[in-house]
Amino acid sequence: MNAIERLIELSPCKVEFVNLGFYYGGQYWNLSHFPTNSKIQINNTLQKFQQLGHLAHEVGHALCETSGCKCFVEDDEDLREYHGYKYALGWLLKHKCKDALQDHCSVMVKITSSYNSNDPHVKAIHKMMKLKLWEKCKKFIEEEGDE
Ligand SMILES: [Zn+2]
Ligand SMILES: [Zn+2]
Repeated sequence: MNAIERLIELSPCKVEFVNLGFYYGGQYWNLSHFPTNSKIQINNTLQKFQQLGHLAHEVGHALCETSGCKCFVEDDEDLREYHGYKYALGWLLKHKCKDALQDHCSVMVKITSSYNSNDPHVKAIHKMMKLKLWEKCKKFIEEEGDE
């Protein structure tokens, strides 16, 4: 099983690969708003290793919601994004998905410089960057050789 297949198996809802256009890597149609049609959509115009990072992030959201995490219960968008990024980086690091990790980290850095500083994504990413996990990811990406 490759990494994408593993994540699909972990996902509590269905996963679709569709053309989301230029702006979105992935989306989670959450259970509370779409009870009969909750799903994850991943932009199929991206490279596989890029899709992987977004998929890990969205699966993180879906797992938060189905496990009754505070970020959904209290509808805390900042916390929700923080959990999404944390799940994605943790998962990619654990499974040594170097290309995906490198891509996702650079997407995160790009977001901090192109979105408004009040955006939940930006706040979440700044918080992430203070974690040991962030340092570990950077170290893993910089290591020579693959797997
Ligand atoms: Zn959560
Ligand atoms: Zn998110």
